[in-house]
Amino acid sequence: MTRAVDLIVIGAGPAGANAALAAARTGLSVTLLDEQPTAGGQVWRAPWPGLMRPARSVEDEEGNLLRTRLAESTVDLRFGRRIWSITDRFRVDAIGPDGNEGISAPRLIAALGAHERVVPFPGWTLPGVVGLAAATVLLKSHSVVPGQRVVVAGCGPLLAAVAAGIIKLGGDVAAVADLSGPGDWLSLTPNFATRPYLLAQGIGWASKLVTKQIPIYFRHAVRRAEGNGCVERVVLGPVDSHAAGVKRGEITLEADALCVGHGLVPGAEVTKLLRARHVYDRLRGGWIPEVDAVGRSSVAGLFAIGDGAGIRGAKPAQIAGELAGLAAAHDAGAIAPGDFARMAKPLQARLRGLGPFSRAAARLMAVRPEQVAGIPLETVVCRCEDVTRGEIEAAYEAGACEMNQLKHFTRCGMGPCQGRMCGDIAAELLAQHVGDREAVGYWTGRPPLRPVGFDDLIGTFSYSDIPIPNPAPL
Ligand SMILES: Cc1cc2nc3c(=O)[nH]c(=O)nc-3n(C[C@H](O)[C@H](O)[C@H](O)COP(=O)(O)OP(=O)(O)OC[C@H]3O[C@@H](n4cnc5c(N)ncnc54)[C@H](O)[C@@H]3O)c2cc1C
Repeated sequence: MTRAVDLIVIGAGPAGANAALAAARTGLSVTLLDEQPTAGGQVWRAPWPGLMRPARSVEDEEGNLLRTRLAESTVDLRFGRRIWSITDRFRVDAIGPDGNEGISAPRLIAALGAHERVVPFPGWTLPGVVGLAAATVLLKSHSVVPGQRVVVAGCGPLLAAVAAGIIKLGGDVAAVADLSGPGDWLSLTPNFATRPYLLAQGIGWASKLVTKQIPIYFRHAVRRAEGNGCVERVVLGPVDSHAAGVKRGEITLEADALCVGHGLVPGAEVTKLLRARHVYDRLRGGWIPEVDAVGRSSVAGLFAIGDGAGIRGAKPAQIAGELAGLAAAHDAGAIAPGDFARMAKPLQARLRGLGPFSRAAARLMAVRPEQVAGIPLETVVCRCEDVTRGEIEAAYEAGACEMNQLKHFTRCGMGPCQGRMCGDIAAELLAQHVGDREAVGYWTGRPPLRPVGFDDLIGTFSYSDIPIPNPAPL
C-alpha cells in the first residue's frame, strides 16, 4: 500500500534534514527518508550505533543538535530506507527493514549529497585503496584507521582533514600528495578567510602534519599502487600546474593503505531519473539540475538542494535546505507569498555570503582534464564491469560519441554502482575526443537508483502459494 503525505524529502544530511524541519514547521506532513541509520549525512555523520562517544568537534555538535531537533519535530523519520525507484509525481519506493515501502506526495525534495571522484591509476582497485571521502566515514563513524601506514593523496581540503584524522586515531601517515601547489592554496586564502572557523580548522590540520613531520608533496599525484593482492607500495610522481604528469623522479613509499580522491560529483540521480533539465558546471562538480533561487527544478513539484545540486559544502546545504522547505510549503499554500519572501530574504543573503569559500574549495577539487588524459590505456575505469580506458577509446573509434552509446558499446556504468564511480571520468575521456562535456552528455537516469536485492523486492513467499494456471485444453 502507498502512503500519501504533503512532502517527501530524500536525504537526511544538512540539506534534506533542514528542508524537512522547515516544511514541517509550517504544518505540512513531511516524510524524511535516508539509507543511513540516523540523520547527519556525510559531514555531520553520527558514530555507528553502539560506538557512541562524547561530541568532540563542532561537526559532532551540529549533528547532535540536528538529530535532537528532528526527534522533537513532527517529521516522519524513516531511516535505513534505500530509495531505488521514483515514478512520476512522486511515488517513491524504498527498501527498508520491512521490505519495499511506497510513499507518494505532490512534492519531492532531492537532497542526495555527493559521491567522490576517483581518477583511476594502475593499482587503484587493489584492496587497501580507499576513497578520500570514504576515509572520513571510517574515521568519523567507525573510529577506524584505513591502515597502519597510509598515503593520503588527491586534492582539496579533505586531504589535510583525513591525514589529521588518521594521526588523531593513532595511525601513521607515510606522506600527503597534493595535486595543487602552495601558491594555489595561498591565492585562495582571502576566500577561505571569509569563514574564519573553517580556516582555523584547516590551519590546525596542517600544523598537525608539520608537527609530526609528515612529508607533504605538493604538485604530486599517485602514479601507481603496487602489491601482491593488496597495497604494499605507493608510487608518486610530479605533475605540472594543470596536473599533467611530468617526467621527473618518482617517489616510492611503503604503505598498506592509500586514501585517494579528486573532489566530489553531485548526486543528481533523482533529477536525472525524473528528466529535469541539467547543466554542466565543472566548478560545481559536473552535471547539476537547473534550479531557481530556492531549489525548484524544471519539473513541477521537484526540488534539488545541497551538494546534489552542485558542490558547495555543509553550511550552504543547510541554508538551501531551509529555503527549499519553506518554498515547498509556500507552493503548497501553507505560507502566504509575503511571509515567504520575508523569510527567504535573509537566508538568500547568508547563502551569498558563503559563496567565496565554496568557490575556493570547488576550484581545488575540480576535475583536471590533463590528469585524466594521462590515465594509461590498460587501466580499468569502470571497476564493476572491468572496462579499461583502452576499451573506451576503442568504443569512440567505433562510433560512440555520447555517454549512452558508450554504455551500449562497452557496458561501462552498467554495474551495481550505476556509474557513480566511473561516470565522470568516462565522460571526461570521451569529451577529450568529442570536444566538450555538454556534447558527451550523461547517462539517462534509470531505476534502480541504488542496488537492491530481488528478494527484498518480492518479499518472502512460498512456492506452493504461487498460483499455477491449469493446462490449456488441447
Ligand atoms: C563520503 C563523503 C564524505 C564527506 N566527508 C566530509 C567531511 O568530512 N567534511 C566536510 O566538510 N565535507 C564532507 N563531505 C562533503 C559533504 O558531503 C557535504 O558538504 C555536505 O554533507 C552536503 O550536505 P548534503 O545534505 O547536501 O548531503 P549529504 O550530507 O551527503 O546527505 C545526503 C544524504 O542522502 C542520503 N542518500 C543519498 N542517496 C540515497 C538513496 N538512494 N536512498 C536513501 N538515502 C540516500 C545519504 O545517505 C546521505 O545521508 C563528504 C562527502 C562525501 C561524499
